[in-house]
Amino acid sequence: MLNRSIDEIIDNALFTEGNLVRLLSINDSGGMEYLCQKAYEIKTKYVGKTVYLRGLIELSNICRKNCYYCGIRKDNHAVNRYIMTKDEIIEAARLSWQLGYGSIVLQAGEVVSDTYADFIADVVKSIKQIANGGVGITLSLGEQTKEVYKLWRKAGAHRYLLRIETSDPEFYKCLHPDDHSFDIRLACLNDLKEAGYIVGTGVMIGLPDQTLERLARDILFFRRIDADMIGMGPYIPHPATPLAVKTNGFADSRDERLNLSLRMIAVVRAVLKDVNIVSTTALQSINTTGCEVGLLAGANIIMPNVTDFKYKKDYILYENKPCIGEDAVLSKDRLEPRVRSIGEQIGYYKTGDPPHFIRRNG
Ligand code: SF4
Repeated sequence: MLNRSIDEIIDNALFTEGNLVRLLSINDSGGMEYLCQKAYEIKTKYVGKTVYLRGLIELSNICRKNCYYCGIRKDNHAVNRYIMTKDEIIEAARLSWQLGYGSIVLQAGEVVSDTYADFIADVVKSIKQIANGGVGITLSLGEQTKEVYKLWRKAGAHRYLLRIETSDPEFYKCLHPDDHSFDIRLACLNDLKEAGYIVGTGVMIGLPDQTLERLARDILFFRRIDADMIGMGPYIPHPATPLAVKTNGFADSRDERLNLSLRMIAVVRAVLKDVNIVSTTALQSINTTGCEVGLLAGANIIMPNVTDFKYKKDYILYENKPCIGEDAVLSKDRLEPRVRSIGEQIGYYKTGDPPHFIRRNG
């Protein structure tokens, strides 16, 4: 694809499904470089060159769901299940703040009960007391009722990540058992918005039977639901999952999946402009410079893992998850020079909320 055609689509916002597919199909290195450069300029204009950090706390790997691609799915009985205590979570949040991370993400498998809802609310309230309320709190705890979302919002959480994984209801059925509902997931995204959260969603890239058309429609879906944050990473199979036995047939090699993931980041940046986009650890697991190239393609958020090693090793969603044996201090020491090496800076102690949310709330 000619650079002139890339300019024409992006500069005139001609974001039809067909044009998005054209951008996602670019596979020559010159075209890829141009697309990423263009996305980087848009990122610089709308969200700046500061990378915001979220200390990731994987508080529990207990899950009631059985998503076909996930290593901690309920039916994987080889997983050693855990839930961190309140004190352990607070300690990890405190460490994250001491490292200068302005926000934390509390992530876990999906658990639905009144006791759990109250536990999380209590934890969130306590974390809010660290640094006099200065710590931003993102939750990634799956599908819950509207009331629970409101309870946690009231307790002090202000962002929520709920990946749709695909915006195509038929394809959703290929990735999940029959009792997992696309409509409920969609309703949850709506409930989260109504509850006043900064809402994030996203998809995996390079799934078996995925197509560029499906990915293009995912991007249009992000725009349609007016998402504030996007988290997307390459699909990496976990051997103990049903999906791992499927041959891919789409973006087969790791290199292809990396490149397609970078194009997705770049195109999402071009279309959505002022949202936060995560440079995910899955990118890093495919390529040792995955984090940097993600930032250069338009991402602006990194989520260093601050979970204690004794738990981190049991939170394996996909194979070769990076930094499992690294402690949080070492991760931070390695991160800083990498971000500086591409001419960006880290927004220490800043929550780094997406300008998109600020704009849509007037
Ligand atoms: S993807 Fe999330 S909801 Fe699905 S099995 Fe894994 S942890 Fe559970």
